[in-house]
Amino acid sequence: MGFAVPPAPQVVVPVVDGGAGFPVRRVYCVGQNYALHVAEMGGDGREPPFFFSKPADALVPGGGDVAYPPRTANLQHEVELVVALAKGGSDIPAEKALNHVFGYAVGIDLTRRDLQSQAKEKGRPWDMSKGFDQSGPLSVLVPAAASGHPSSGRIWLKVNGVTKQDGDLGQMTWNVAEIIANLSSYVSLAAGDLIFTGTPAGVSTIVRGDMLECAIDGIGKLAVRLV
Ligand code: MN
Repeated sequence: MGFAVPPAPQVVVPVVDGGAGFPVRRVYCVGQNYALHVAEMGGDGREPPFFFSKPADALVPGGGDVAYPPRTANLQHEVELVVALAKGGSDIPAEKALNHVFGYAVGIDLTRRDLQSQAKEKGRPWDMSKGFDQSGPLSVLVPAAASGHPSSGRIWLKVNGVTKQDGDLGQMTWNVAEIIANLSSYVSLAAGDLIFTGTPAGVSTIVRGDMLECAIDGIGKLAVRLV
């Protein structure tokens, strides 16, 4: 049987050195996973992780030009370690979780902060503040076989050459294994899933024309221009 309308194309993230591409299934994101960013958002303490999603077709693999989104006057950047899963499951134990990882990338969780603030105030969903078109630029993936599983390493982002975020993966409240374990207690994970693991402090407002550069030691780098 054919399709009633053309099917959406499969979203694919390139892998370093021309390896076979990574076909994306779902995109999960962790909220407030670095203490200093929790503080700048007005929170405190080691709360259990919480999750939201972006549509797979909101990704911008490889970065480059990203259109400034409509319906916001306060777009902000959040540089994050992105985890790509090679296999899934439910209730994955933390001590086995890293065996499920295909590799890693550096990504930006672009956020319409004004819409997110309104949603928080009114107890409404975050979809329109987090899951808009082109809200998830990310670098090419590096397989864990090449990068290892980073538990520390500098993660930074510059806007027009000025450093805004400068943290370390070791500052994550919940590490990659704990995130996979916790998320898989809510939903079945599968090969092709990506997880944005939260951002260090220093998020700031960006405008059309801004040039964003970011990187994670040993993982990769990403450049984005807002057009
Ligand atoms: Mn984020």
